[in-house]
Amino acid sequence: MSYDYVIVGGGTAGSVLAARLSEDTDVRVLLLEAGSAIPLEAMANPLRWERLFGTRVDWGFSTTAQRHLNGDEIVYPRGRVLGGSSGINGMYHIRGDRTDYDAWAAAGAQGWDYASLLPYFRRSETAPGRDPAYRGTEGPMLVSVPEGRNRLWEAGYEALLEAGYRRNPDGNAESAFGATWNEMNVVGGTRQSVSDNYLRSLRRDNLTVLTEAQAYRVIIEGDRCVGVEYAVRGGAAETVRADREVVLAAGAVASPQLLQLSGVGPAAHLREVGIEVKVDLSGVGGNLHDHLMSQVRYQTPESMTATFSRKPRLLVGGIQIMFVDVVMHPRWKAGPENGFSIVASLEVAESRGSVRLASADPTAAPLIDPNYLSDERDVTALLDGLRIAREVGGTAALSEFHGKELTSGEDDTEFLRRIVYTQFHPAGTCRIGDDENAVLDPELRVYGLTGLRVADASVMPSSIRANLNATVLAIGERAAALIRGETNV
Ligand SMILES: Cc1cc2nc3c(=O)[nH]c(=O)nc-3n(C[C@H](O)[C@H](O)[C@H](O)COP(=O)(O)OP(=O)(O)OC[C@H]3O[C@@H](n4cnc5c(N)ncnc54)[C@H](O)[C@@H]3O)c2cc1C
Repeated sequence: MSYDYVIVGGGTAGSVLAARLSEDTDVRVLLLEAGSAIPLEAMANPLRWERLFGTRVDWGFSTTAQRHLNGDEIVYPRGRVLGGSSGINGMYHIRGDRTDYDAWAAAGAQGWDYASLLPYFRRSETAPGRDPAYRGTEGPMLVSVPEGRNRLWEAGYEALLEAGYRRNPDGNAESAFGATWNEMNVVGGTRQSVSDNYLRSLRRDNLTVLTEAQAYRVIIEGDRCVGVEYAVRGGAAETVRADREVVLAAGAVASPQLLQLSGVGPAAHLREVGIEVKVDLSGVGGNLHDHLMSQVRYQTPESMTATFSRKPRLLVGGIQIMFVDVVMHPRWKAGPENGFSIVASLEVAESRGSVRLASADPTAAPLIDPNYLSDERDVTALLDGLRIAREVGGTAALSEFHGKELTSGEDDTEFLRRIVYTQFHPAGTCRIGDDENAVLDPELRVYGLTGLRVADASVMPSSIRANLNATVLAIGERAAALIRGETNV
């Protein structure tokens, strides 16, 4: 069996790639996805995404024991379904600031600056009523601010203004900074995953989508990647050849895992787990970074039960502030249920971790070590985030909702080490660059091989000040354009 392109992973980037590459009717495209094509009913509901953790649409990973978080292992959900993590995520559509991308280009990822990426952000979305100089008008992902209103979230927005932050009418346009209303990938009250919008309506003879098919490794002959070994529902291993290219779009955990299983990675680690080294590429699986969040918590006399409504967000420096309609407790302690939290997330992380193999078995979960808060600058920045959250929480606009902040009885630094959560944004494990630790050249080709690219959240060189999905859409769009040899958009 052979195709022109074999794409591994039908998540955010993989769905975009499959749709765009198969627009050329003379190429044959295979998309391999480990998860099912059948969604769980709860995936549609924008208020129930956290209940998807640990179900069949989640890989169910946890991190290794985190040294700087008192040895805790952190739950680390990843989508395992057609649509990938866009099928289980919080549906916020946020681009980040232009300076984030300009920093990528300055660090060696030529062509990934904001001006170069803007056409691909635009191509991926339709954002009605927005400035078309920045926003898409014909893309598959329909994005908008929800129409519903909720007293608490409206007061939260007023609180941001009262605290002195500027109003930003569109945080996905010229600048991401200031107080804004979140856009979401929700239409008519229903989640729009990336596969819903890019793939589901396609009926193309030249596109094959094979679900419940887990890739085990890519096949390398000499210095060329020629195909993929995979198994359907845990059955016997099969192979498929790619006449042109294999594109890994398995996400920031599985793409570096697959490279290492294929003998592409740091030689010493590969030997340690008994894998023959094909390309000694030190950067594979390194540079893992994520957004961490903590929060200040307020008790309220009554439950703040969410409705699907517009929700405010603030970006200030490297901190994002959002609101949650429950009291988020430390992992080790129960507490009162009624209340809300003001969440501060660290959008520019300095700590770096890794994804490594536990063994040469492709079905074994990888070792995910984000090394959270290993860099003291992250602790300082998050403490500043808590200060901002408290400042917002102390405004008159929010005073009618709470009597008191719930404190933990310990200082903020100790509290942080106990209460941080992942915002579910791993990235950077196959980063683009031009230095010796880079994994991909600026056209997303794996160094040392032909016929193999990576295109997903793992390619990001450094943090962006946003939840990742909108950016991964643009990465998928730009990857498809590079593969198709497009020069003009
Ligand atoms: C719980 C949660 C909440 C989030 N909330 C938001 C949010 O509100 N807004 C936002 O912008 N971002 C959010 N994100 C992040 C965002 O959804 C992801 O960063 C983005 O979807 C990543 O896209 P990707 O293409 O890199 O990987 P994924 O979308 O994860 O796709 C990878 C795909 O590869 C498949 N795969 C993996 N291994 C194999 C294999 N060996 N063989 C075959 N297939 C394989 C997986 O099953 C999956 O379908 C959230 C993520 C999570 C998990």
